[in-house]
Amino acid sequence: MLSSSASTMFSDLEVEITPDAPIGPMTWYGIGGHADILIRPLTIEALTTLVMRCRRTRTDLRVFGKGANLLVADDGVSGIVITLDTPTFREITYNAEGDVHTMRAMAGADMAATLMDATRRGLEGLSQMAGIPASIGGAIRMNAGGKYGCIGDAIETVTCIGRNGELVTYPKSELTFTYRQTNIPDPIIIAATFRVTPTDPIALREKVKDIFSYKKSTQPLADHSAGCTFKNPIDPETGEFIPAGKLIDRAGLKGYCIGGATVSTHHANFIVTNPSATASDVMRLLAEVRKRVFDHSGIQLEQEVVIWRRKEEDTA
Ligand SMILES: Cc1cc2nc3c(=O)[nH]c(=O)nc-3n(C[C@H](O)[C@H](O)[C@H](O)COP(=O)(O)OP(=O)(O)OC[C@H]3O[C@@H](n4cnc5c(N)ncnc54)[C@H](O)[C@@H]3O)c2cc1C
Repeated sequence: MLSSSASTMFSDLEVEITPDAPIGPMTWYGIGGHADILIRPLTIEALTTLVMRCRRTRTDLRVFGKGANLLVADDGVSGIVITLDTPTFREITYNAEGDVHTMRAMAGADMAATLMDATRRGLEGLSQMAGIPASIGGAIRMNAGGKYGCIGDAIETVTCIGRNGELVTYPKSELTFTYRQTNIPDPIIIAATFRVTPTDPIALREKVKDIFSYKKSTQPLADHSAGCTFKNPIDPETGEFIPAGKLIDRAGLKGYCIGGATVSTHHANFIVTNPSATASDVMRLLAEVRKRVFDHSGIQLEQEVVIWRRKEEDTA
């Protein structure tokens, strides 16, 4: 059993180990199963050693951010899940050299808390992220964003754990951020620096509030969901994005339910759940929506939500 060998495998490291950890309830959906093992590294060294030991022993390793874009299967996931929510991985620091201001955030820092801290200091750069629940690492992995821009817009560098456990820092000239994607080659992001610009804190606070209000009026932020279920497909004729929500709405699916999962009547690209829902309800609804949209429009929707199953991550 991995859970008993894990305590031996990592007992010399500065980590907190939880066997059979209920990670499904830690997601925004609040549903789904357990991880065989959840590990919270307390230091960067413990994290890099852990990653190298998992690589050497071919043990599955996944990173859990805030679970805002994640659906965990009802029977949970095998291997090790790490979460970077300990103080070392939530640090935010600021730097100014002449006119150049930067903010460095560790990957486990909460996006809303980071944005709030920068806003209080009158440092603009991440206002486009208002109302997007995320950890810094999860937001970078997904290149989260929307109408006002994406996280990639403000990135100066991203630091990851490289092949041999070394820390690798990529400058923005080597990084690409496209719609919900990046070219970051390494599976674990540990920190990033952002370009920020000093501005009037009061005006900035108003701007962040306006962006948040816009999001609140267009998305069911208070419901259990993982945000947009599908990516917006590209119209082959115009090259423009077609909102997936519009396609789902046109297929007559707003309010359509399977078990405790429902296509939101507020925003058709959100699948929302009630407390009786299972991850299997969401997966079945997702497949049905995809099928019906294809039957109606001939367009194949691509999943944005990440699904963790026992064997492997499914984003296809
Ligand atoms: C109410 C609501 C509204 C939303 N609105 C938006 C929106 O407007 N725009 C948008 O883009 N998204 C939106 N989302 C989706 C979600 O906020 C983003 O995808 C966000 O980036 C997820 O971050 P997370 O930390 O929760 O990642 P998780 O959901 O925990 O993980 C997502 C993926 O990132 C990986 N990951 C997490 N941390 C790391 C790390 N340190 N290193 C490497 N990989 C990592 C995970 O392994 C997984 O593959 C919304 C979600 C909700 C619930």
